[in-house]
Amino acid sequence: MSIFEKIIARQIPARIVAETDEWIAFHDIQPQAPVHVLVVPKKVITRIGEAEDSDALLLGALLLGAKQVARSLGLLDSGFRVVLNHGRDGGETVPHLHVHVLGGRPLGWPPG
Ligand code: 5GP
Repeated sequence: MSIFEKIIARQIPARIVAETDEWIAFHDIQPQAPVHVLVVPKKVITRIGEAEDSDALLLGALLLGAKQVARSLGLLDSGFRVVLNHGRDGGETVPHLHVHVLGGRPLGWPPG
């Protein structure tokens, strides 16, 4: 069971921002920006490269969840970034799909 499944099951605590039947959003434990929230599907998809065509609606719901989080935390005007990390070079560390929502400061581009 991944750390995110344990958060979904309330076996370990998290600072939850929002939740639906399909996903849960909570603050990252090691924030990389003043706002750093993860939007995590309750269905286990390991990473974006393993998503199926049948996950299309869920993937759309995650992006709309990111928008909802950004709006609720006041980022729509100032701006924010949505990130998915896949695999070693992408910097993935937790093998359970998650959308990072980052904001609250200017974010550099290109990313490191
Ligand atoms: P990745 O590197 O896989 O794209 O992102 C995983 C994220 O999960 C990291 O930003 C990391 O700080 C966060 N994370 C890892 N373990 C925990 C945890 O137990 N609780 C919370 N809230 N975030 C975690």
